[in-house]
Amino acid sequence: MERVAQCHCGQLRAIASGEPDRVYICHCVACQRRTGAVVHSGAAYPKTRVRFEGDEKIYARLGDSGSEIRFHFCPTCGTSVYWEGDRNPAIYGIAVGAFADPHFPAPTSSGWEESMHRWLGLPDDIAHFPQSRS
Ligand SMILES: [Zn+2]
Ligand SMILES: [Zn+2]
Repeated sequence: MERVAQCHCGQLRAIASGEPDRVYICHCVACQRRTGAVVHSGAAYPKTRVRFEGDEKIYARLGDSGSEIRFHFCPTCGTSVYWEGDRNPAIYGIAVGAFADPHFPAPTSSGWEESMHRWLGLPDDIAHFPQSRS
């Protein structure tokens, strides 16, 4: 099966085949500012199972581990659709919200809960981490 993630204007698309290796949410302040949302949700896929269409720009920064992470975003509408980094070079992360699919697999871990918005409820059966998942 394939799922398509796309930016707000639709020109940048990530087409992923099969199920994601991992789905997670992150409450860190960098993700809050990057997405404009109170919580970020990401899906990790092996690079061999994702292809892309459209124009993009890249914003690179250092992650908590000190290794570079590169966010690929639409130059027209600004949506970050996917990212990759030196820490996990075989993986693309894709923004779950960009799939706009309420049936997308649920997250199994929740990171940086120390900066989680207090009103946000989460299921009990996922792994909770006050900071980065170790
Ligand atoms: Zn766009
Ligand atoms: Zn984060």
